[in-house]
Amino acid sequence: MRGGDTMDRVILIKYGELSTKKANRNFFINSLYNNVKNKLVDYKVNIHKDRAKMYIEFEDKDLDNITGIINKIFGIHAYQIAYIVESNDEVIRTKMLDVVKKEKFNTFKVEVKRSDKKFPINSQEYSRELGAVILKNIPDIKVDVHKPDLKVKVEIREDNTFIYFNTYMGAGGYPVGTQPKGMLMLSGGIDSPVAGYYALKRGMKLDAIYFEAIPHTSIEARNKVISLGKKLADYCDSINLHVVNFTPIQEEIYKKCREDYCITIMRRMMYRIASKLCEKYNGLVIVNGESIGQVASQTLTSMSVINSVTNIPVIRPVACMDKIEIIDVARKIDTYDISIIPYEDCCTVFVPKHPVINPKLDVAIKEENKFDYESLIDEAVNSINTIKIDNSKNTEFSDLL
Ligand code: ATP
Ligand code: MG
Repeated sequence: MRGGDTMDRVILIKYGELSTKKANRNFFINSLYNNVKNKLVDYKVNIHKDRAKMYIEFEDKDLDNITGIINKIFGIHAYQIAYIVESNDEVIRTKMLDVVKKEKFNTFKVEVKRSDKKFPINSQEYSRELGAVILKNIPDIKVDVHKPDLKVKVEIREDNTFIYFNTYMGAGGYPVGTQPKGMLMLSGGIDSPVAGYYALKRGMKLDAIYFEAIPHTSIEARNKVISLGKKLADYCDSINLHVVNFTPIQEEIYKKCREDYCITIMRRMMYRIASKLCEKYNGLVIVNGESIGQVASQTLTSMSVINSVTNIPVIRPVACMDKIEIIDVARKIDTYDISIIPYEDCCTVFVPKHPVINPKLDVAIKEENKFDYESLIDEAVNSINTIKIDNSKNTEFSDLL
């Protein structure tokens, strides 16, 4: 594929944090390779990998689309758009001069990195030599080692040499699929999509759960959650969204239980259902967007009373973040504007005037035993409606609703 003038660049991927995983290195690299391959299935690319790096040959016209996708693949620490040539002095000089001539700059600096120690000239010496080539051939420019307009980087490796100017930060984290699956409690709010993003970033796979209470909540509220799920699905393969009919449980709670304990009990029910869905769909942990102290149900006392219904670990990626920090991330991952669309959520429909801030476990248990929640929970779990969110398939969700 290489050779023509339009195909002499590659995307050179740096693994970053992967390189700390000695024993698992191949597993991580293979996972990343598969994820990149799946995400770029619609493009004509060749992907090469070894233990130090990965690079993608692409067609020039696809560069913007491909980098847009690469920016959302976890496990990529940084990348460069690099010209690739064989590791041969003459070839490197010619190509470097050729590509530098196309750039506009007054000052420059050449930085050579030589991981191929068989290459006969050392890095410092070769940087000077290549710098001299540029000075000799391009008029009115000079070297500035501190703040150059153009940094010419030349990476000499055994198989190939890469020439590039800029380094772009990747999404970081670990490749999705290097950890088992978690169940994300995905509401239409700001926090839970951010929690999902962080979970994916650690390499987890995700299913999502949405509790809805139709007719108290609307189909638009559900669509909003689907839109948030689609944003998260850009960072992974696909997400199964399990929609739970929460109406009967919620109505029973508000009919039978003490008002100030309604939210505590509602959340205990959510955790029970999430735990059952973990068993049903092989989730190892629950993930949610709780943040310490944000609302009455997220004081440490509340969390502990709520959490006590399950032995499954609950991961709370945004637990220690300020709302402002969470919003910054929500903006970055493009979920914020969707999250602030005002539709009622089941948590906001039935809000007690004074929810308990320090609930007591025995009171919560006494109150929830006022109705037969076990059978309602089984009914909710058995009547799950699962929507597969797969951006590569262009699913028309209106067909599914
Ligand atoms: P978010 O936390 O997503 O911004 P929120 O702040 O309105 O929304 P809370 O009432 O704080 O939600 O609930 C805390 C967490 O519980 C949410 O982050 C989410 O993980 C989960 N949760 C709340 N409501 C729902 C729901 N209807 N469906 C699924 N999960 C929910
Ligand atoms: Mg919240």
